[in-house]
Amino acid sequence: MLERFRRKIEVQRYLKDTLEGDYQDALDDYHAKRRPRPCGITIHPATGCPYRCVYCYVPDIGFTDFKPYPLTGLKLALALASNPYVAPGPSGSLAAFGSVTEPLLEPIRDRTLEYLDRITRFLDLSCQISTKEYVSRELALELKIIEPKLSVLVTIVTIDRYLQFEPLAPPPHLRFESIKNLSSEGLHTTLFLRPAIPAISDREAYRIISAALDHGARGVIVGSLRVTSGIIGRLRTVGVNIQVDHSRLRKNVQLPTGADTKNRIVKIARELDARIYPSACSANVDAHGEACMVCSYGPCGNLNRIPDLNEASIDEFLDAIGLNGRYLEVGDRSIVLSFHRDVEVSSWIKYFIEAIARRRVFIRRIG
Ligand code: SF4
Ligand code: SF4
Repeated sequence: MLERFRRKIEVQRYLKDTLEGDYQDALDDYHAKRRPRPCGITIHPATGCPYRCVYCYVPDIGFTDFKPYPLTGLKLALALASNPYVAPGPSGSLAAFGSVTEPLLEPIRDRTLEYLDRITRFLDLSCQISTKEYVSRELALELKIIEPKLSVLVTIVTIDRYLQFEPLAPPPHLRFESIKNLSSEGLHTTLFLRPAIPAISDREAYRIISAALDHGARGVIVGSLRVTSGIIGRLRTVGVNIQVDHSRLRKNVQLPTGADTKNRIVKIARELDARIYPSACSANVDAHGEACMVCSYGPCGNLNRIPDLNEASIDEFLDAIGLNGRYLEVGDRSIVLSFHRDVEVSSWIKYFIEAIARRRVFIRRIG
């Protein structure tokens, strides 16, 4: 564990030297500070998206215009290496492209490939891209050369009504071709059936999942529709009425809906004998031949690959960062760190250890 921490410091030093003093924007950047989400640390080659799918939450979280991200690949790598929450790999933090933009859009595609290359080269994070773009065999090969174990999620939530829901995105038949091209290049490719739109996605699920499997998808992730008042209004314009308790709708909060829809689709996926990943990170872990038991959706991946950690290695790491007076229990599924209540424990420590240990970390206060 200490070796990973030291490596991160060395990468920071190397990148700062390479950037010859021109790096303050990287240190101030969001990627240098943000706590990872469950799917990993999200990477933004742009903010906003011109496709404007009606169910998209991106405009509702403030990214109304499409803007390519200003950092170069080296600066992005420095930002991530400076982020205390991020643990370098292999089998460290997960990285996910595609949460606030379409990462393979033509105007930012080179930037995405550049980011992917620098993240892999300097931090060796396990990366995942979610996309609706058409991925040619050539592009699939480029991705494969940069990150051979890359996890790719291809989003398809409707075939018949895509013109209403995703009028500007590439049509689903091209996305099925993407699955075929990515899989043919040996990339781990998963159908991303999210958001599951009530009375639309469930009615088409059999066809969507069967076609994805026929084109080489390894499995499917089914995710609920999450709504804001903006999304509810846009869905109404295309004939979908979502009933929610409006008092629960607040700014910047996305309410999950349609649990029944999701359950129906999962049942169909089971009937089709499709592998069902409980979440995006689960597919990423599987793509990289890793394992994870951090949350109750798991365990995920190849459990023989759960890192073999002992108390001494965590002890050594905590000593090196100046944290004394703890008592440790390292179990099969979790790690418990106990500190005197007077000891200040930064929040990143839990996440850093979790990313490397791939087990849940609990911090208890004593004394
Ligand atoms: S492609 Fe993705 S990011 Fe772009 S508008 Fe559609 S859902 Fe949003
Ligand atoms: S246990 Fe599975 S679902 Fe949970 S964080 Fe790990 S990979 Fe993701």
